[in-house]
Amino acid sequence: MIKVLVIDDSDVLRRISVFNLKRAGFDVYEAIDGMDGIEKMKELKPKVVILDVMMPRLDGFGVLKEMQSDDSLKDINVVMLTAKGGDDDAEHALKLGAKKFLTKPFSPKKLVEVVNELAGEE
Ligand SMILES: [Mg+2]
Repeated sequence: MIKVLVIDDSDVLRRISVFNLKRAGFDVYEAIDGMDGIEKMKELKPKVVILDVMMPRLDGFGVLKEMQSDDSLKDINVVMLTAKGGDDDAEHALKLGAKKFLTKPFSPKKLVEVVNELAGEE
């Protein structure tokens, strides 16, 4: 089963993502902020990470920076979740190594589509 880690500080949004990805057949894990996310990535080595931008302790950009400086994490596929109107955030995320971004609110169908696409990559 393909491992997906959802890193989001919003309980509600995290649960929606987790529910839909599980239903789509992925092995899904959760982290509640960036620090928790980095720890769980090291432990689980997920194929895909869903990464929120605004989070306490360590935000999504901080997570991307840490991933780039860690050989064991830098090849993990990241989908960044950006806020509406956050075009600069999306661009910044892609520059820092994210593969895709989804603007909130996004449809569960779109989320599953993007994760399927990245899960199929080497
Ligand atoms: Mg947030």
